[in-house]
Amino acid sequence: MPHKSGFVSIVGNPNVGKSTLSNLLVGERLSIITSKAQTTRHKIFGIVNEKDYQIIFSDTPGVLEPAYKLQESMLKYSKSALTEADIILFITDTIEKYGKNENFIKTVSTLNTPIFLIINKIDVSTQEELEKLVVFWKNILPSAEIFPISALKKFNTDNLFKRILELLPQSPPYFDKDALTDKPQRFFVSEIIREKILLYYQKEIPYSTEVEIEEFKEATQRVDIKAVIHVMRDSQKGIIIGHQGKALKKLGIEARKDIESFLDKKVNIQIFVKVSKDWRNKDKFLKNFGYEH
Ligand code: GDP
Ligand code: MG
Repeated sequence: MPHKSGFVSIVGNPNVGKSTLSNLLVGERLSIITSKAQTTRHKIFGIVNEKDYQIIFSDTPGVLEPAYKLQESMLKYSKSALTEADIILFITDTIEKYGKNENFIKTVSTLNTPIFLIINKIDVSTQEELEKLVVFWKNILPSAEIFPISALKKFNTDNLFKRILELLPQSPPYFDKDALTDKPQRFFVSEIIREKILLYYQKEIPYSTEVEIEEFKEATQRVDIKAVIHVMRDSQKGIIIGHQGKALKKLGIEARKDIESFLDKKVNIQIFVKVSKDWRNKDKFLKNFGYEH
Protein backbone atom coordinates (compact mmCIF):
# COMPACT_ATOMS: atom_id res chain seq x y z
CA MET A 1 0.00 0.00 0.00
CA PRO A 2 1.41 3.46 -0.86
CA HIS A 3 2.15 5.63 2.15
CA LYS A 4 -0.45 8.25 3.14
CA SER A 5 0.14 11.45 5.03
CA GLY A 6 -1.61 14.75 5.59
CA PHE A 7 -2.69 17.60 7.82
CA VAL A 8 -6.06 17.41 9.53
CA SER A 9 -7.08 20.72 11.08
CA ILE A 10 -9.54 20.88 13.96
CA VAL A 11 -11.29 24.26 13.97
CA GLY A 12 -14.44 25.82 15.38
CA ASN A 13 -15.80 28.18 18.02
CA PRO A 14 -14.50 28.18 21.60
CA ASN A 15 -15.53 25.39 23.96
CA VAL A 16 -17.13 23.00 21.47
CA GLY A 17 -14.67 20.18 22.27
CA LYS A 18 -11.85 20.64 19.75
CA SER A 19 -9.12 19.74 22.21
CA THR A 20 -11.07 16.82 23.65
CA LEU A 21 -11.46 15.37 20.16
CA SER A 22 -7.86 16.15 19.22
CA ASN A 23 -6.50 14.29 22.25
CA LEU A 24 -8.76 11.36 21.52
CA LEU A 25 -7.74 11.07 17.86
CA VAL A 26 -4.06 11.50 18.68
CA GLY A 27 -4.28 9.13 21.63
CA GLU A 28 -2.32 11.43 23.93
CA ARG A 29 -3.26 14.25 26.24
CA LEU A 30 -1.35 16.96 24.38
CA SER A 31 -3.95 19.69 24.69
CA ILE A 32 -5.26 20.98 27.96
CA ILE A 33 -9.01 20.91 28.38
CA THR A 34 -11.13 22.98 30.72
CA SER A 35 -14.69 24.20 30.78
CA LYS A 36 -13.44 27.75 30.13
CA ALA A 37 -13.33 29.29 26.67
CA GLN A 38 -9.93 30.16 25.19
CA THR A 39 -8.12 27.35 26.94
CA THR A 40 -6.10 26.65 23.79
CA ARG A 41 -3.88 29.52 22.64
CA HIS A 42 -1.56 27.81 20.15
CA LYS A 43 -1.79 25.55 17.16
CA ILE A 44 -0.62 22.20 18.45
CA PHE A 45 0.34 19.32 16.17
CA GLY A 46 -0.47 15.84 17.39
CA ILE A 47 1.02 13.20 15.12
CA VAL A 48 -0.29 9.67 14.66
CA ASN A 49 2.21 7.26 13.12
CA GLU A 50 1.59 3.84 11.66
CA LYS A 51 3.55 1.83 9.12
CA ASP A 52 1.38 2.97 6.21
CA TYR A 53 0.35 6.42 7.29
CA GLN A 54 1.10 9.55 9.29
CA ILE A 55 -1.72 11.88 10.27
CA ILE A 56 -0.87 15.33 11.60
CA PHE A 57 -3.80 16.64 13.59
CA SER A 58 -3.72 20.29 14.52
CA ASP A 59 -5.69 21.52 17.47
CA THR A 60 -6.36 25.24 17.26
CA PRO A 61 -7.67 28.10 19.40
CA GLY A 62 -11.40 28.79 19.12
CA VAL A 63 -12.41 31.37 16.55
CA LEU A 64 -13.10 34.79 18.08
CA GLU A 65 -13.18 38.49 17.34
CA PRO A 66 -9.78 39.65 18.62
CA ALA A 67 -9.90 42.26 21.37
CA TYR A 68 -6.12 42.37 21.95
CA LYS A 69 -2.93 41.28 20.19
CA LEU A 70 -2.69 37.87 21.84
CA GLN A 71 -6.12 37.04 20.39
CA GLU A 72 -4.99 38.28 16.97
CA SER A 73 -2.25 35.65 17.08
CA MET A 74 -4.74 33.03 18.21
CA LEU A 75 -7.04 33.81 15.28
CA LYS A 76 -4.09 33.64 12.91
CA TYR A 77 -3.36 30.11 14.09
CA SER A 78 -6.95 29.07 13.37
CA LYS A 79 -6.88 30.67 9.91
CA SER A 80 -3.52 29.20 8.95
CA ALA A 81 -4.81 25.78 9.98
CA LEU A 82 -7.45 26.15 7.25
CA THR A 83 -5.06 26.91 4.44
CA GLU A 84 -2.55 24.17 5.23
CA ALA A 85 -5.16 21.46 5.79
CA ASP A 86 -5.72 18.38 3.65
CA ILE A 87 -8.88 17.69 5.62
CA ILE A 88 -10.82 20.09 7.84
CA LEU A 89 -12.77 19.04 10.90
CA PHE A 90 -15.13 21.90 11.62
CA ILE A 91 -16.49 21.31 15.11
CA THR A 92 -19.76 22.55 16.48
CA ASP A 93 -21.74 21.10 19.35
CA THR A 94 -25.33 20.55 20.35
CA ILE A 95 -25.18 23.51 22.73
CA GLU A 96 -23.82 26.55 20.88
CA LYS A 97 -26.13 28.94 19.09
CA TYR A 98 -25.43 29.66 15.46
CA GLY A 99 -24.40 33.19 14.50
CA LYS A 100 -20.93 33.50 15.99
CA ASN A 101 -18.07 34.04 13.54
CA GLU A 102 -20.07 33.61 10.37
CA ASN A 103 -17.17 34.96 8.33
CA PHE A 104 -14.99 32.07 9.36
CA ILE A 105 -17.68 29.59 8.31
CA LYS A 106 -18.03 31.41 5.00
CA THR A 107 -14.31 31.03 4.43
CA VAL A 108 -14.54 27.34 5.24
CA SER A 109 -17.42 26.91 2.80
CA THR A 110 -15.39 28.37 -0.09
CA LEU A 111 -12.46 25.98 0.34
CA ASN A 112 -11.95 22.96 -1.89
CA THR A 113 -10.62 20.93 1.00
CA PRO A 114 -12.75 18.02 2.22
CA ILE A 115 -14.72 19.16 5.26
CA PHE A 116 -16.23 17.18 8.06
CA LEU A 117 -18.87 19.01 9.99
CA ILE A 118 -18.65 17.44 13.42
CA ILE A 119 -21.61 17.85 15.74
CA ASN A 120 -20.09 17.09 19.14
CA LYS A 121 -21.68 16.50 22.56
CA ILE A 122 -24.57 14.44 21.29
CA ASP A 123 -24.55 12.78 24.73
CA VAL A 124 -26.35 15.86 26.05
CA SER A 125 -28.88 16.14 23.25
CA THR A 126 -32.01 14.34 22.07
CA GLN A 127 -32.44 12.55 18.76
CA GLU A 128 -34.93 15.18 17.68
CA GLU A 129 -32.62 18.11 18.43
CA LEU A 130 -29.81 16.33 16.63
CA GLU A 131 -31.90 15.75 13.52
CA LYS A 132 -32.75 19.43 13.39
CA LEU A 133 -29.09 20.35 13.68
CA VAL A 134 -28.14 17.99 10.85
CA VAL A 135 -30.70 19.61 8.55
CA PHE A 136 -29.54 23.05 9.63
CA TRP A 137 -25.84 22.37 8.97
CA LYS A 138 -26.53 20.64 5.63
CA ASN A 139 -27.88 23.97 4.53
CA ILE A 140 -24.92 26.01 5.77
CA LEU A 141 -22.16 23.71 4.56
CA PRO A 142 -23.68 21.57 1.78
CA SER A 143 -20.35 20.05 0.75
CA ALA A 144 -19.47 18.89 4.24
CA GLU A 145 -19.81 15.34 5.47
CA ILE A 146 -21.79 15.46 8.72
CA PHE A 147 -20.61 13.44 11.69
CA PRO A 148 -22.51 13.48 14.99
CA ILE A 149 -20.17 12.39 17.78
CA SER A 150 -19.46 12.56 21.47
CA ALA A 151 -15.75 13.13 22.04
CA LEU A 152 -16.26 12.72 25.76
CA LYS A 153 -18.09 9.39 25.51
CA LYS A 154 -16.03 8.27 22.50
CA PHE A 155 -19.16 7.77 20.46
CA ASN A 156 -18.74 7.48 16.67
CA THR A 157 -15.15 8.70 16.89
CA ASP A 158 -13.69 5.41 15.58
CA ASN A 159 -15.77 5.81 12.44
CA LEU A 160 -14.55 9.36 12.10
CA PHE A 161 -10.95 8.21 12.31
CA LYS A 162 -11.54 5.53 9.65
CA ARG A 163 -13.12 8.05 7.33
CA ILE A 164 -10.22 10.49 7.80
CA LEU A 165 -7.82 7.71 6.89
CA GLU A 166 -9.78 6.97 3.70
CA LEU A 167 -9.50 10.58 2.57
CA LEU A 168 -5.88 11.06 3.57
CA PRO A 169 -3.75 11.83 0.49
CA GLN A 170 -0.90 9.65 -0.68
CA SER A 171 2.32 11.24 0.44
CA PRO A 172 5.57 10.44 2.19
CA PRO A 173 5.59 11.38 5.89
CA TYR A 174 6.13 15.06 6.77
CA PHE A 175 7.73 14.37 10.13
CA ASP A 176 9.98 11.65 11.57
CA LYS A 177 7.93 8.55 12.09
CA ASP A 178 8.64 8.62 15.83
CA ALA A 179 7.54 12.25 16.31
CA LEU A 180 4.46 12.85 18.44
CA THR A 181 4.27 16.63 18.21
CA ASP A 182 6.05 19.71 16.92
CA LYS A 183 6.29 21.28 20.37
CA PRO A 184 9.08 20.76 22.92
CA GLN A 185 8.49 19.22 26.36
CA ARG A 186 8.74 22.57 28.10
CA PHE A 187 5.75 23.81 26.11
CA PHE A 188 3.59 21.07 27.63
CA VAL A 189 4.96 21.83 31.08
CA SER A 190 3.86 25.45 30.71
CA GLU A 191 0.46 24.28 29.45
CA ILE A 192 -0.04 22.04 32.49
CA ILE A 193 0.63 25.02 34.76
CA ARG A 194 -1.73 27.17 32.71
CA GLU A 195 -4.39 24.48 33.01
CA LYS A 196 -4.18 24.74 36.80
CA ILE A 197 -4.54 28.52 36.58
CA LEU A 198 -7.66 28.06 34.44
CA LEU A 199 -9.03 25.61 37.01
CA TYR A 200 -8.24 27.41 40.26
CA TYR A 201 -8.64 31.11 39.44
CA GLN A 202 -11.73 32.93 38.35
CA LYS A 203 -12.85 35.79 36.14
CA GLU A 204 -10.13 37.60 34.22
CA ILE A 205 -7.17 35.95 35.96
CA PRO A 206 -6.63 33.02 33.54
CA TYR A 207 -6.93 35.40 30.59
CA SER A 208 -4.38 37.80 32.07
CA THR A 209 -1.67 35.25 32.72
CA GLU A 210 1.01 33.54 30.69
CA VAL A 211 3.42 30.87 31.87
CA GLU A 212 7.05 30.93 30.90
CA ILE A 213 9.50 28.13 31.62
CA GLU A 214 12.76 29.85 32.53
CA GLU A 215 14.68 26.75 33.39
CA PHE A 216 14.25 23.10 32.45
CA LYS A 217 17.13 20.97 33.67
CA GLU A 218 16.81 17.30 33.02
CA ALA A 219 18.87 14.76 34.92
CA THR A 220 18.44 10.98 34.87
CA GLN A 221 16.32 10.87 37.99
CA ARG A 222 14.83 14.31 38.19
CA VAL A 223 13.82 17.43 36.30
CA ASP A 224 14.34 20.87 37.83
CA ILE A 225 11.90 23.46 36.58
CA LYS A 226 11.72 27.17 37.17
CA ALA A 227 8.50 28.73 35.92
CA VAL A 228 7.31 32.31 35.84
CA ILE A 229 3.65 33.28 35.82
CA HIS A 230 3.32 36.63 34.10
CA VAL A 231 0.36 38.79 35.07
CA MET A 232 -0.77 42.12 33.67
CA ARG A 233 -1.21 44.11 36.89
CA ASP A 234 0.03 44.25 40.50
CA SER A 235 -3.37 43.31 41.92
CA GLN A 236 -3.34 40.08 39.90
CA LYS A 237 -0.01 39.10 41.40
CA GLY A 238 -1.56 39.13 44.85
CA ILE A 239 -4.46 37.00 43.71
CA ILE A 240 -2.20 34.38 42.13
CA ILE A 241 -0.08 34.13 45.28
CA GLY A 242 -3.06 34.20 47.64
CA HIS A 243 -3.28 34.64 51.40
CA GLN A 244 0.00 33.48 52.97
CA GLY A 245 1.01 32.07 49.61
CA LYS A 246 -1.55 29.29 49.87
CA ALA A 247 -3.04 29.62 46.39
CA LEU A 248 0.33 29.49 44.65
CA LYS A 249 1.39 26.57 46.80
CA LYS A 250 -1.66 24.55 45.81
CA LEU A 251 -1.07 25.43 42.17
CA GLY A 252 2.53 24.23 42.42
CA ILE A 253 1.60 20.94 44.07
CA GLU A 254 -1.12 20.08 41.56
CA ALA A 255 0.99 21.12 38.57
CA ARG A 256 3.95 19.09 39.80
CA LYS A 257 1.87 15.92 40.06
CA ASP A 258 0.69 16.24 36.45
CA ILE A 259 4.12 17.21 35.14
CA GLU A 260 5.63 14.20 36.88
CA SER A 261 3.23 11.85 35.20
CA PHE A 262 3.68 13.62 31.86
CA LEU A 263 7.50 13.41 31.99
CA ASP A 264 7.50 10.16 33.92
CA LYS A 265 10.17 11.56 36.25
CA LYS A 266 10.42 13.22 39.62
CA VAL A 267 10.01 16.95 39.31
CA ASN A 268 11.21 19.82 41.42
CA ILE A 269 9.36 22.98 40.55
CA GLN A 270 9.67 26.60 41.60
CA ILE A 271 7.07 29.09 40.46
CA PHE A 272 7.50 32.86 40.54
CA VAL A 273 4.98 35.56 39.73
CA LYS A 274 5.98 38.62 37.74
CA VAL A 275 4.06 41.69 36.59
CA SER A 276 4.61 42.22 32.86
CA LYS A 277 2.41 45.23 32.25
CA ASP A 278 -0.18 44.70 29.53
CA TRP A 279 1.83 41.78 28.03
CA ARG A 280 -1.19 40.68 25.93
CA ASN A 281 -0.75 43.76 23.76
CA LYS A 282 3.01 43.93 23.56
CA ASP A 283 4.86 42.37 20.63
CA LYS A 284 8.03 42.00 22.67
CA PHE A 285 6.32 39.78 25.25
CA LEU A 286 4.21 37.86 22.76
CA LYS A 287 7.23 37.02 20.65
CA ASN A 288 9.12 35.94 23.73
CA PHE A 289 6.20 33.70 24.75
CA GLY A 290 6.28 32.00 21.35
CA TYR A 291 3.32 33.62 19.61
CA GLU A 292 3.79 34.22 15.92
CA HIS A 293 2.50 37.42 14.48
P1 GDP B 1 -12.32 23.52 22.95
O1 GDP B 1 -12.32 24.86 23.58
O2 GDP B 1 -13.14 23.50 21.69
O3 GDP B 1 -10.96 22.94 22.75
O4 GDP B 1 -13.10 22.54 23.96
P2 GDP B 1 -12.52 21.55 25.07
O5 GDP B 1 -12.05 20.28 24.44
O6 GDP B 1 -11.56 22.29 25.94
O7 GDP B 1 -13.86 21.20 25.86
C1 GDP B 1 -14.70 22.21 26.41
C2 GDP B 1 -15.63 21.57 27.41
O8 GDP B 1 -16.56 20.71 26.74
C3 GDP B 1 -14.92 20.72 28.44
O9 GDP B 1 -15.54 20.91 29.69
C4 GDP B 1 -15.13 19.30 27.92
O10 GDP B 1 -15.10 18.32 28.93
C5 GDP B 1 -16.51 19.41 27.30
N1 GDP B 1 -16.77 18.39 26.26
C6 GDP B 1 -15.97 18.06 25.22
N2 GDP B 1 -16.53 17.08 24.46
C7 GDP B 1 -17.72 16.77 25.03
C8 GDP B 1 -18.77 15.82 24.73
O11 GDP B 1 -18.72 15.03 23.77
N3 GDP B 1 -19.85 15.83 25.56
C9 GDP B 1 -19.95 16.67 26.63
N4 GDP B 1 -21.04 16.59 27.37
N5 GDP B 1 -18.98 17.56 26.95
C10 GDP B 1 -17.88 17.61 26.17
MG1 MG C 1 -9.07 23.79 23.02
